[in-house]
Amino acid sequence: MTASIEDLIRENIKTLIPYSSARSEYKKANGIFLDANENPYGNYNRYPDPFQVKLKEKLAEIKNLRAGQIFLNNGSDGIVDMVYRVFCEPKKDKALTFPPTFGMYTVAAHLNNVELIKIPLNEEFQINREELDKYIADENLKVIFLCSPNNPTGNHLNREDINYILDNFKGITVIDEAYIDFNKRISYAQKLDDYPRLIVLQTLSKSWALAGARIGMALMSEALVGVFNKIKTPYNVSSIDQQTALEALENKESIQERMITILSEKNRVIEALEEFDVIEKIYPSDTNFLLVKVADGLKFYQDLLAHDIIVRNQHNVIENTVRITIGKAEENDLLLAALEKINSTN
Ligand code: PMP
Repeated sequence: MTASIEDLIRENIKTLIPYSSARSEYKKANGIFLDANENPYGNYNRYPDPFQVKLKEKLAEIKNLRAGQIFLNNGSDGIVDMVYRVFCEPKKDKALTFPPTFGMYTVAAHLNNVELIKIPLNEEFQINREELDKYIADENLKVIFLCSPNNPTGNHLNREDINYILDNFKGITVIDEAYIDFNKRISYAQKLDDYPRLIVLQTLSKSWALAGARIGMALMSEALVGVFNKIKTPYNVSSIDQQTALEALENKESIQERMITILSEKNRVIEALEEFDVIEKIYPSDTNFLLVKVADGLKFYQDLLAHDIIVRNQHNVIENTVRITIGKAEENDLLLAALEKINSTN
């Protein structure tokens, strides 16, 4: 028997009576607002729309979804924490993920006192199905976190493996698609109507260049959006961020152009990096970053740091690797020039 959403939600969340914000009780725009203890003066004196209606409508149009299937939050990292709080009873329920992957799945598990099973990705950075089969039917396993394209490896997980989990796992499957726009794959959000226990995470931080505005998305069934609305803080996306995001979404073309530039820069950087002896391997990337294996990861990282070029040292997750984000052409030039210098002095 497949678990229903109701069966998966923690009892305290099911019975929670949510905070009702002043602004969600009166729907018209032109009242005299004396209800929320706001200051009557200034430009940002009013609380924002608690449910970000306009922004969701615009996102629904772009993502070919219904606005009701979108939940927004101040960053998608915070939604990872909310997933644990909705579905995992501390010290009893479990979640599962496939490292090396985005660190917040682990941090949020600890924060919520939930056991996280870790099944390392195989040599090709794909899911080890044999290992997965040992856990997939565990009654207390409530959530599986997948990241595709994966951070920090940069690759997509095989569709057959994702489909296997969606078809066989009775809990909640979270597919983190933070980097989905940097390649041509179709988002799993298009399958939401087939999979009521699927949550797709996306963000405006990467392809939309709005990391500073903190707009994270959970794309999921209307029923799940309802549950997350119950537990969110009343005004979880600021009016400045909502407005900034709406303006960016209106400017789709310029974002698209920049994305093309980033991807062509990525190819240029790959070709240039291949010329350096110190680079042992550049892993295939479906994202705006490259995972690179070098002879001595820590030294490579520190040598670049000495030139004020900051890459991400990944040595503690994959031996002797660094993760390099693709920058502007002039930034990438500086990276390559620094590598030339480092190369010639070694
Ligand atoms: N998921 C993945 C895979 C990420 O790499 C990141 C950020 N590095 C996030 C989520 C968090 O994104 P946000 O800015 O929306 O919190």
